[in-house]
Amino acid sequence: MSKLVAFAAIQGGYKVVSQAEGKLRKALETYNADTKVGFGNTAYYLPVIYSLTGMKVETLEDLQKPMAFARKLLPPHIKGKNHLPYLGPLLDAGMAAIFSYEIIEAIRMLYEPDFYILQEDPDLDAGKLWVGPADDIILRKRGVEFVDGSAPGFAAMVGAAPTPEIAKMIVEDYQKKNLYIFCAANHNGTSVIEQLIKAGVQVGWNTRIVPFGPDISSAVFALGFANRAAMAFGGVKPGDFKKILHYNKDRVFAFVNALGDIGTEWGVAAAGCVNWGFPTLADTDIPEILPTGICTYEHVVANVPHNDMCQRSVEVRGLKVNVTQIDIPLSFGPAFEGERVRGSDLFCQMGGGKTQCTELVKQAQMNEIEDGKVIVVGKDVGELKEGEALPLGIYVQIAGREFQTDFEPIMERQIHHLINYIQGIMHIGQRDISWVRISKQAVEKGFTLKHIGVVLHAKFHQDFKKIVDKVQVTLYTNKKDVDELTKRARAEYRMRDERVDKMTDEDVETYYSCTLCQSFAPSHVCSVSPERTGLCGAYNWMDCKASFEINPTGPNQPIQKGECLNPKLGQWKGVNDFIFKASRGAVTHYNFYSMVHDPMTTCGCCECIAAMLPACNGVMTVNRDYTGDTPSGMKFTTLAGVMGGGASSPGFVGHSKYNITQGKFIIGDGGLLRMVWMPKILKEELKDRIMKRGAEMGVPDLYDKIADETVGITEEEILPWLQEKGHPALSMEPIVG
Ligand code: SF4
Ligand code: ZN
Repeated sequence: MSKLVAFAAIQGGYKVVSQAEGKLRKALETYNADTKVGFGNTAYYLPVIYSLTGMKVETLEDLQKPMAFARKLLPPHIKGKNHLPYLGPLLDAGMAAIFSYEIIEAIRMLYEPDFYILQEDPDLDAGKLWVGPADDIILRKRGVEFVDGSAPGFAAMVGAAPTPEIAKMIVEDYQKKNLYIFCAANHNGTSVIEQLIKAGVQVGWNTRIVPFGPDISSAVFALGFANRAAMAFGGVKPGDFKKILHYNKDRVFAFVNALGDIGTEWGVAAAGCVNWGFPTLADTDIPEILPTGICTYEHVVANVPHNDMCQRSVEVRGLKVNVTQIDIPLSFGPAFEGERVRGSDLFCQMGGGKTQCTELVKQAQMNEIEDGKVIVVGKDVGELKEGEALPLGIYVQIAGREFQTDFEPIMERQIHHLINYIQGIMHIGQRDISWVRISKQAVEKGFTLKHIGVVLHAKFHQDFKKIVDKVQVTLYTNKKDVDELTKRARAEYRMRDERVDKMTDEDVETYYSCTLCQSFAPSHVCSVSPERTGLCGAYNWMDCKASFEINPTGPNQPIQKGECLNPKLGQWKGVNDFIFKASRGAVTHYNFYSMVHDPMTTCGCCECIAAMLPACNGVMTVNRDYTGDTPSGMKFTTLAGVMGGGASSPGFVGHSKYNITQGKFIIGDGGLLRMVWMPKILKEELKDRIMKRGAEMGVPDLYDKIADETVGITEEEILPWLQEKGHPALSMEPIVG
């Protein structure tokens, strides 16, 4: 804020206070001092003055006190001195002007009792446009909407847009967000209200477009309304100005749009509104006032283009969009989460080994994306024949003032249950191994891929209000696009995984739980430590920690490790206590570092399942994307069916791909050196890491000693090969016993 601005606005304060004093003096010359003044039908006197100072104005004489108070608020004129222009004096000048405007309006109503119609709607037939201050009946009916959330707040618009069409566009944007639009003042002889009427828009309280009055002083009715709401519904006492202003700042999402040239009188009004935490956004080049913590963000923002006015205002004020309706043709909710789409119901599918299906959530800049936009690139389900499969890339971009890249994995993991919430749609897996199955009934009811975007947009807003401001979703179904997204996503996944690379379980006293999967596997509790990422691969220790920060009552809770009961197998008292409770008594204990002895529970999301191979004195693991047979005698799907229900199954364990090369991977059973078989694709995917980890464990060529399906798919087939290679597992202590 430059010195000049402060002077200009403070000057505006002087000007407005003098105006009010002049009018009051004249009125006192014309009328008796005990002449009644007031806004009619209200128990709140002149509400701004009453709410902030406790002064009850009932007569002309009563106006003298608040008038003098306003004069006293004006900061001293110290021309040419350096120490003036801080926010404090400016805010005081603003407040002085607001009091003066309320006094000016009271005097206007004394001279012209019929100037305002004081009804819900303007009486256009009688040529009356301005409704004036709301009475207590309107306050009760409308104010409650600010409290129950059906109206998040209001946009106070002063001046006029360049054209009626522009006025209409801005106002309709606000209506869509359920905001009230409070209008006052004119610019070059016209006002937003007159422009709206010209553009055929209905105005009045019932369309939430309120024509308060023609002058800047009428803007005080908006503040009076807000303060009365704080007293009526917030239980704040008159005179408790701190509470009133705080209530407004925290609870009423309001801001000012100044359309047209801002003179000193508008300037000081804008400064006044900053006291309420209401910022001003202007379409002209006025000097900006930057954050000091009073408004949520900036105080005054200049040069806002008209088509950005709504979005910018909402952003600057920190308004969280409330998406209450999820506009899809199918039922939606947790009730449908566990529902399956079986073969006979299936219309089409994406992923699941038939095609590639990948999910990626990335942070975006505010101006990069459009909130609520859903783009489908390529074929949609309507263009498919029954039984067909499509590749699918779900790419979600999220922008938010409080959003961090650390939150990306958490949001991405929600895609699983949110898509499952849609009736007739099933989602399995995560990351680049997702699988979406769409039922015939869903397609009959009109489901298209676009609705996945609609759901994600709405739920991300609902469930993550604090961190989400904008969500844009792109769904790719062309193989080329999906492959490109997959490549990019894999690089992202790697970066996320590596964030815990340098950490060890000994480094921390706190692990995290994950119970996100209990809707499918009710007794399942993942415990996530730095060296044991969630078995779905989507959550590591860092992610759980961030998730707990965003949502302290959510599915990721800190677990104090407590006393170590078995350092070799990885068992802690604190963990046992936690999982006993979190599994509602179904699981009493488990080991982090063993698959042979009481391993961790497994749900159906696991990226891989390890199984013991006793004849080879080792273990194998198989990833979800490998559909062939394995030396355990079972395919991945069979293994998942046997032990994916949330039980602890000795001899088997679900784990993430990344976990295979983490330091504690089944270290109680001998660690990675026990690994005798893996599918070729998985082995190749992890090649560098296996080589590195093997070398750390003293077997630099471990990678070359692990068999895959090209060697064999039974224990008998691979054993001679392992012997020939000298696999370290063969000379380890017996795996069972
Ligand atoms: Fe959480 Fe485990 Fe489910 Fe992953 S598999 S979402 S870590 S409960
Ligand atoms: Zn799961």
